[in-house]
Amino acid sequence: MQGMMMHRDLRIIDILTFAAEAYGDQGIVSACEDGSRHRISYPQVLGRVAQLSHALVAMGVQPGDRIGTLAWNSFRHFELYYGISAIGAVCHTLNLRLPREQLIYMLHHAEDRVLFVDPSLVSLVEGMGDDLPAGIRLIVLCDANDMPESSLDLVCYEDLIAPQPAQYDWPRWPEDTAAGLCYTSGTTGPPKGALYSHRSIVIHAMMVPLGFTNSFHAGRKVLPVVPLFHVNAWGLPYVAPLTGMTMVMPGRHLDGESLYQLMDAEQVWSAWGVPTVWAGVLATIRDKGTPPNGLGDLVVGGAAAAASMIAAYEEMGIYVNHVWGMTEMSPVGTRGIVPSQMADAPLAAQIEEKSCAGRRLFGVEFKIVDDTGAVLPHDGASTGELFVRGNSVIRGYFNNAQASATVMDADGWFGTGDVATIGPDGRLVIRDRAKDLVKSEGEWISSIDLENAALSHSRIKTCAVVAVPHPKWDERPILVAVAASDDHPTLEEIHAHLASDFASWQLPDDLILVEELPMTATGKVSKLKLRQQLAGYILPEMR
Ligand code: ADP
Repeated sequence: MQGMMMHRDLRIIDILTFAAEAYGDQGIVSACEDGSRHRISYPQVLGRVAQLSHALVAMGVQPGDRIGTLAWNSFRHFELYYGISAIGAVCHTLNLRLPREQLIYMLHHAEDRVLFVDPSLVSLVEGMGDDLPAGIRLIVLCDANDMPESSLDLVCYEDLIAPQPAQYDWPRWPEDTAAGLCYTSGTTGPPKGALYSHRSIVIHAMMVPLGFTNSFHAGRKVLPVVPLFHVNAWGLPYVAPLTGMTMVMPGRHLDGESLYQLMDAEQVWSAWGVPTVWAGVLATIRDKGTPPNGLGDLVVGGAAAAASMIAAYEEMGIYVNHVWGMTEMSPVGTRGIVPSQMADAPLAAQIEEKSCAGRRLFGVEFKIVDDTGAVLPHDGASTGELFVRGNSVIRGYFNNAQASATVMDADGWFGTGDVATIGPDGRLVIRDRAKDLVKSEGEWISSIDLENAALSHSRIKTCAVVAVPHPKWDERPILVAVAASDDHPTLEEIHAHLASDFASWQLPDDLILVEELPMTATGKVSKLKLRQQLAGYILPEMR
């Protein structure tokens, strides 16, 4: 028997109309280039989003068209999220840190008809020259005063929307209509697109605050350091208005000092970003001797957060939430918080708990499988590839059947490429990315575990463990590290530091000190580039 309830298709624009009505005093604060901060309320944003939708339709944008963005976090970038999807078009956020060739690949693969660009990134577009898709319209996210000089045919965003009316009776699209497109950074092969729908985005926006109960409070401020081009800033442009929070947009200055100043001045409650960002802010906090005013909650994810960093923030009274997820999952998959029965446990036990990926969000299902695809028990010991399923998970890549076939299993689950264990209590531990595990003598060594432990050594600033081929043992781990000061650690000292947590065969065979580690476009250590840099490297015992 069918239920007898109404069906209203889920729409992204309804989040903003709700926020404008229910939280009209909240909105967006954006850090500007001149050091000032721009403020706008959700009702004002809604009017401008209506103007943008009209302008896009007037330009001839059709439902289903892909519209690119190449921009830092700002209120205008936020408006694009809503104004584009509300007319049934697709907001395609491009990661401006990717190499030129990949940006050009994505513009062509997505067939973007229009590209919205920050003034500071116009030169990047100029550099694409004749490789820019023919006929693409270029709109600069600024007002007439800030329009850059350029040989390109540019339109000013504010001039574009100004003549348009501030109301729009947006159509009610079927909820499966595509709304957003984000490509993974393509560590293997060309970038692959995750094409989100109104339904997946709205459901994800409702799932996230259920998991992160400390982060969302109406009337407080949330800071996405995670870029709007990195998986929809982990959903924050939707969750913040939905939960009545003001967003603080940092622009392009993401160093520890700039972020500290911004958080302190705006009394940001919850701040979201990758571990390298929080390592930078931590250094600034140590310099100043006190955390930014008002900061109470940190969400760290995108790569494993080291226990030592979690501890440093927790000791200051800042609640750390560890999150695991990926582009293909919209992206949030887990909530790395301490279960309520451990609320009174000693800090050390709580930090150990937070160092793992946490528990699944409602709406995401997990299974781990062995090499043959057989499902493994959730016993905390059986290790296999993690597969996921849910309304916010892709069922294939955008226009890429070949790549889709490699990640989806026969039962419709998506293979994450991460190797994990799941406990009987649902505790997910990401052991490693399958391609980063070190295989030694038929046993696996987790690079994440070694890195995490090495980072707790006071003389190591950042580090990465990579596998080096070995004729007898298959592979051996080596530690590549940036020293915290001129007082360099030695391999023997690192071994002594790690000895209590690792078997001797798991310890790295070498320590290589470098000035800096190569990074990916999403701010993580790039093991791919590191392995390339190490081509020709020979283990000490082989020399
Ligand atoms: P990209 O590799 O393109 O940056 P994503 O940003 O989607 O892609 O990254 C997803 C991957 O990042 C996951 O599959 C996982 O390997 C890693 N990851 C994300 N969060 C965590 C975490 N908290 N702990 C360990 N690994 C993580």
